[in-house]
Amino acid sequence: MDASVHGPDESRAASAAPGLTSDALMAARDVALGFGSTTVMQDITVNFQRGTINALVGPSGSGKTTFLRSLNRMNDKVRGFWKRGSISLHGEEIDGRGVDPLIVRRRVGMVFQRPNPFPMSIQDNVVAGVRAHKMAKRSEFKDIAETYLAQVGLWSHVADRLGDSPFRLSGGQQQLLCLARALAVEPEVLLLDEPTSSLDPHSTEAVEELVRRLTPELTVIIVTHNLAQAHRLSDNTVLFYEGHLIETGPTAELFEHPKRVETARYLGAEDVPVRAN
Ligand code: ADP
Ligand code: MG
Repeated sequence: MDASVHGPDESRAASAAPGLTSDALMAARDVALGFGSTTVMQDITVNFQRGTINALVGPSGSGKTTFLRSLNRMNDKVRGFWKRGSISLHGEEIDGRGVDPLIVRRRVGMVFQRPNPFPMSIQDNVVAGVRAHKMAKRSEFKDIAETYLAQVGLWSHVADRLGDSPFRLSGGQQQLLCLARALAVEPEVLLLDEPTSSLDPHSTEAVEELVRRLTPELTVIIVTHNLAQAHRLSDNTVLFYEGHLIETGPTAELFEHPKRVETARYLGAEDVPVRAN
């Protein structure tokens, strides 16, 4: 099984010495994840190349969220969580000695399935991370808020109500606000866990448009149970099934010429039901 996500420089990635992480921006090597005595993921080896959109797909319960959350150490505080193997950013272990998980989470941002604005004003939401990481002066907050609200396409809707609560915004607008908040700390990688599953088609399109615009400056790893979304949006797809990586490769190839029968089945939705989770 070929377990690397192919990027523009696949040959170099493939020829890297064992143990080295090649030129991938993020790489998982022989990763196993679990909680207590339960193993949730095993034998996961995959590269994420800089500037690409990577879709993680697979049935509900296959471990997509657990894996995604491991990429920025969001599982660290979950009771019983353990990880074996290596996850690296620029070749550096994300949980190596002396690595601050808060810095990992600034460099590898995350947006969740349900919009989760903080109970503070719209502007304070956008700059929450900027403020926490002391990345700018208070006098710069308004400009920063405008920059990132404009980037996600919300500025014209909220320009005159930056001091208002975000909870009056629509679900789609709240998710765009969460994206603005994640982008404001200038991450290198953005992790998205089914970011459109609670949104209407119009908002879904807005989020997908944004993801396209964000690359190649940003590297995106998106969990989706929507196979059409994976197909139209991503450069590379990774298929998980029951805690294993079944197949990974360029999205068009994986969808049109899957190498494994499990992939064909899942993508064709023959025997394996495609469920929302
Ligand atoms: P997916 O996102 O693909 O639906 P998840 O990563 O959420 O899958 O879940 C994979 C498996 O890990 C499931 O069997 C789930 O019950 C288990 N799991 C997830 N989180 C925890 C946890 N905090 N404690 C114990 N088991 C968990
Ligand atoms: Mg999930």
